[in-house]
Amino acid sequence: MNFTRFPRRKYIQTPTPIEPMPALSRALDGKVNLFVKRDDLLPGAGGGNKTRKLEFCIADALENDANTIITCGAVQSNHCRLTLAWAVKEGLDCHLVLEERVKGSYKKEASGNNFLFELMGVKSIEVVPGGTDMMAAMEKKAEDLKAEGRHPYIIPGGASNAIGALGYASCAAETMAQLNDMHLDIHHLVVPSGSAGTHAGMVVGMTAMETGIPVSGMNVSREKRVQEEIVYKLAKETAAKLGIEKEIPRDRVVCFDQYVGPGYSIPTDSMVEAVKLFAQTEAILLDPVYSGKTAAGLVDLVRNGYFASGANVLFLHTGGSPALYAYMDSFRK
Ligand SMILES: *Cc1c(COP(=O)(O)O)cnc(C)c1O
Repeated sequence: MNFTRFPRRKYIQTPTPIEPMPALSRALDGKVNLFVKRDDLLPGAGGGNKTRKLEFCIADALENDANTIITCGAVQSNHCRLTLAWAVKEGLDCHLVLEERVKGSYKKEASGNNFLFELMGVKSIEVVPGGTDMMAAMEKKAEDLKAEGRHPYIIPGGASNAIGALGYASCAAETMAQLNDMHLDIHHLVVPSGSAGTHAGMVVGMTAMETGIPVSGMNVSREKRVQEEIVYKLAKETAAKLGIEKEIPRDRVVCFDQYVGPGYSIPTDSMVEAVKLFAQTEAILLDPVYSGKTAAGLVDLVRNGYFASGANVLFLHTGGSPALYAYMDSFRK
């Protein structure tokens, strides 16, 4: 895979660590050996996975002479926090369109990421009802900004287009280089599957390099069939952009939807258990919306013998812990 043909900003200085999780593995009866790839430790205010995608998306914005970024997300969006953070670093204005997916969930004075939007000086926040056509809402915002003489650039939700997903195809290469270095044979990779760029990029990278490592995506909102099609479509687009000639086999895209619960961002008992388990065995902070539900899936698959006994399983920690502080009641009750 050759990433040198694409505009790219340099936000990541070193590979993020791959660490063993011996205490967590023991807490799950030592059936498997769990490892974690610490993308929660990526640079960018508050850390997390979107920085990998934004290296490519913000570079593309700059290449297009933009001076203003528009993006969208849910009311506690990590993606919006990190897009704003890198826009600030680059001297670009940043406007957010927030989708209130759970009715009544937007509170101007809320903590977590919402507070950080304010702290980092977001130029504007527009809150729209759940189900709104977010691209249309961002295009309308772009027209308004153009009329004021600005040069806006739209980054889609989660930076999950073929440009942003390059960041996770590149992460697959980074991960494989580390594993080879450590001489660590991983049998399974578990990732969250939200706006799909992370999952799709990993599938493209792992498939292109013929690592033989299966990738399981844990859904955070949609049902299995719908999410798999979204991931597969983005994987094909990303592979085409990278000039990978080999077809991505459809069966490389595997999603689990049992851990979503009642819906996106709504806490579940298994998420609360997993967040506490990671915190109290490895002192690793997850988040309620993505990594917590992904970890709930990982824990359940380990307990149910989904992985062969003695397997080495790598969990991709995508960050999001600033959102914990907006959900404290779920953990204290
Ligand atoms: C956005 C996000 C994800 C999901 O990544 P996608 O590329 O949107 O699927 C996972 N974890 C955290 C913390 C996120 O903010």
